[in-house]
Amino acid sequence: MNEPQPVTLPHGANLSCDTCQNELFESYQWKLQTTGMTFFGLDWANRDATCFVCTTCRRIHWFHL
Ligand SMILES: [Zn+2]
Repeated sequence: MNEPQPVTLPHGANLSCDTCQNELFESYQWKLQTTGMTFFGLDWANRDATCFVCTTCRRIHWFHL
């Protein structure tokens, strides 16, 4: 689980770190669904979030995929 690996984005490009240009990332996924978010009108956030953490500098690249 969570072996560093290259990340291909939906439009076909390889993700490279904004800071150090590394192309190996650990990936994490979170479910953001909560009734509280809907109650406060934030259901635009009601989807999965995917984070890729640079294995070199630990910068987090956050996506809604
Ligand atoms: Zn980096």
